[in-house]
Amino acid sequence: MMKVRRYLRGSGRVLAFVFVASVIWLLFDMAALRLSMNDANSQLLKERVIREREMLKQQSRVTQLVNLGFKHPVQRVDLAATHAGGGALNPAGKLASVYRRGGRQRPPMLEDRKPQGNDILASDRFRSVASKHNDGGALHNSVTQKQGAPAHKKAVNLDLNIANGTQVPPSVQKIKPTHKIRADRARDSVGNEKVKDDLAKAGTKQAHLVKTTPRQPANKDVNRKEVKEEEKRVRTKDLDGGEETAKPAVRLQAGENSTALRKQSVHKVLSLDMTHSPRDVNALGQFGQAVIVNGDKDAEVRRRWNEGHFNVYLSDQIPVDRAIPDTRPDTCAQNLVHDNLPSTSVIFCFVDEVWSTLLRSVHSVLNRSPPHLLKEIILVDDFSTRDYLKGQLDEYMAQFPKVRIIRLKERQGLIRARLAGAAVAKGDVLTFLDSHIECNVGWLEPLLERVYLDRKKVPCPVIEVISDKDMSYMLVDNFQRGIFKWPLVFGWSAVPDEYIKKNNMTISDPIRCPVMAGGLFSIDKKYFFELGAYDPGLDVWGGENMEISFKIWMCGGEIEIIPCSRVGHIFRGQNPYKFPKDRQKTVERNLARVAEVWLDEYKDLFYGHGYLHLLDKKATDIGNLTEQIELRKKLKCKSFKWYLDNVYPDMKVSLVKAEGLVFNRGLRKCLALQKDSLSFETCDLSEQSQHFNFTWMKQIRQRDLCVAPQGKGSGFTLQLCDNTEPKLRWFYKSSSSALAEHFIADFASQHMCLEAERQSGSLRLNPCEPSNTFQKWQFTRYHA
Ligand code: UDP
Ligand code: MN
Repeated sequence: MMKVRRYLRGSGRVLAFVFVASVIWLLFDMAALRLSMNDANSQLLKERVIREREMLKQQSRVTQLVNLGFKHPVQRVDLAATHAGGGALNPAGKLASVYRRGGRQRPPMLEDRKPQGNDILASDRFRSVASKHNDGGALHNSVTQKQGAPAHKKAVNLDLNIANGTQVPPSVQKIKPTHKIRADRARDSVGNEKVKDDLAKAGTKQAHLVKTTPRQPANKDVNRKEVKEEEKRVRTKDLDGGEETAKPAVRLQAGENSTALRKQSVHKVLSLDMTHSPRDVNALGQFGQAVIVNGDKDAEVRRRWNEGHFNVYLSDQIPVDRAIPDTRPDTCAQNLVHDNLPSTSVIFCFVDEVWSTLLRSVHSVLNRSPPHLLKEIILVDDFSTRDYLKGQLDEYMAQFPKVRIIRLKERQGLIRARLAGAAVAKGDVLTFLDSHIECNVGWLEPLLERVYLDRKKVPCPVIEVISDKDMSYMLVDNFQRGIFKWPLVFGWSAVPDEYIKKNNMTISDPIRCPVMAGGLFSIDKKYFFELGAYDPGLDVWGGENMEISFKIWMCGGEIEIIPCSRVGHIFRGQNPYKFPKDRQKTVERNLARVAEVWLDEYKDLFYGHGYLHLLDKKATDIGNLTEQIELRKKLKCKSFKWYLDNVYPDMKVSLVKAEGLVFNRGLRKCLALQKDSLSFETCDLSEQSQHFNFTWMKQIRQRDLCVAPQGKGSGFTLQLCDNTEPKLRWFYKSSSSALAEHFIADFASQHMCLEAERQSGSLRLNPCEPSNTFQKWQFTRYHA
């Protein structure tokens, strides 16, 4: 102590004073520097803090609210509308949590059924998101979520095959607690703890917020300048931080098409989020929060529902540039991307889109895309009938020089509308989006980065869910990829765990995606046209996602889902627009075109899963396919078998339903084909003449010969197999049917079964008898 005092005497005291003063000065300096850095983003940060706090509050309440029983957002709630972003949640806020929770239930999936007459076919462009728990299981449709569906909404049934009677009732998804979803997000680390950590960090950030910079009123020039400034700041910051030599966080496994080696200068992903007016934290739906509409507005909500098949009444009251939660995995904001990414034209096609959702879609792109990368936004009006989409839209969009509107002179459908947009696009990359989406912060650069690394990569953002009922923005599970099930039904399934482990995948790594959902993706413009774009013979809606997916993979490209790029989409139970022709027939026809061009021998599986009627050329004209087939040859695309083996190996496919010996239980002998005639022999696996297939076309077949009945009571012939011939089809079930193991003639009006003659050892067609063992046939192996 004495020693210290001695040092503080005389000049020592002066020195000590100078030292302390400098430390204080340094501290002030650092604080000032920090402030100036924070200043630019202070508004954003503040909003983020409020938002995250709100989310935390909501989450902690959700669990208590599980049993409140308010399951029907439109019909049962009669409390005041929720204002998101406020302080403690009001009663309506609590209800909002319930909605949110409901909406966050395991996302909609497709039911594994086959199409039927009046069912609404939502097969291919079904774009909601599945839970990993459903991998390999039945797929379920979005509209099987009974909760919250308005009474007039028709349930969508898929894949109902009356013929083979295997229909499974649609299942209603179980509600998934919100906290679990949050935990899923942090699956690669420590679960909930990580989320708490994030929120704690957000709280600390707020401590630095001294001054906020309110956004200027709607003035695009000011905003553009601000964006430029912000970009500059971000770059400078990165350079100052000595990161200019750092490599992008993405793996630079650039293939032969890579341009990555040209230039390595990089910057941190720009997390831009502009607002055209000072952001109203109390606005409805702000920060993607759920909103409960007053019960007395039910009739209005229901009336307006039909305009878009979602809560149009509510959407119209939510700011067109609302903020939404930044749902990216944590590391995404730190990822580096190249400075010289290609520019993009964003193409929105729409037909009779709701005003507020169309505007929100456009604003989300304008506000959250780096301006130097956004070449233009092309709005393709697919011959909409609504007045506001004409002059009023022209006028509104005139304030944004980057927005161009193209109007088609007749209804072309989504596929040809996109082609029209692509034809005039000036950007290097085409980015297709649906017209009822909201792009999240930092959505664009990670997509363009992938195209930059390899022009044959086709990146898709993670599609998140904007609730059709309460307009909340909902998280989805990690590691989801698009797949298909027969008959070309799109669905989601989790990447298999072994694959994740083997490849050390984290939640932010690109995910190989066998089939894209279709609505949202970026593609190098030149590459898109090299691939022959979309088959222009596809009508209105449906099947185009299958077509482009098979084409990309089989002809040398790759489809990826990029977890650092996220876009919300309103999933609707029905298409809100009219189909010029019958909807079901339109989609089936599109799918048949895809099957004929791309599936090779596997097209039997497509037809065999409920679409055999499409083989009747008199009933269905799928149009001319010459150009498409030529294109496939010209591009030297690989086989569909290659695609299954290499891109979607977890899809187990067999080209036949059953095969091997065909054993008759009564006769205890096997069917044999000798010199063009059928007989019975002692079963012998080594005899090729005893080997038959039961095909997806329902044929009993050996090589190119099929078993054909000649008529009641008479014998049998062998005919050259012809997939279009219904008389060669047999209905056959190996179990769980009264007529299990019977071959029932498919074409006959009454049940007629294939029976072995006891004495003569020949075959004939007799009325079916469930217990008659001479009508029971067994194959050696079954695959379906
Ligand atoms: N669309 C179009 N013309 C059509 C059908 C659809 O321009 O004939 C647009 C539609 O407005 C939307 C996009 O194409 O922006 C995708 O359609 P939709 O959202 O109905 O498909 P989903 O998301 O239900 O698969
Ligand atoms: Mn859509």
